[in-house]
Amino acid sequence: MHELSIVMSIVDLANQEVQKADATHVETIELEIGTLSGVEMEALDFAWQSSISGTVLENAERIVHRPEGMAKCSQCNHTFATESYFDPCPHCGEFYNEIIRGKELRVKTLTLVSD
Ligand SMILES: [Zn+2]
Repeated sequence: MHELSIVMSIVDLANQEVQKADATHVETIELEIGTLSGVEMEALDFAWQSSISGTVLENAERIVHRPEGMAKCSQCNHTFATESYFDPCPHCGEFYNEIIRGKELRVKTLTLVSD
């Protein structure tokens, strides 16, 4: 499952940061997961719940930002909201568009605490 490996790498990253900062666990984790990132939020939640037990993220508050998809037309440079990679430009009908927002999949901030 794709989402499980995402959660595993988030746990890895959190572990590294906690070690680097000489902290004990994560208080808050802020994630940015764009609506075009291909991540299923339900699957992510499930993977999250089953993976964080006993880790530095166990009691962390999780905040998820979901940037909406935005594309830029390669023909007329019009920018528009989009829910898929294959929406045509509403201005000129061009299908070759560059996704400029919505593919985000990253940890935005980690707030660490030491007991
Ligand atoms: Zn266009």
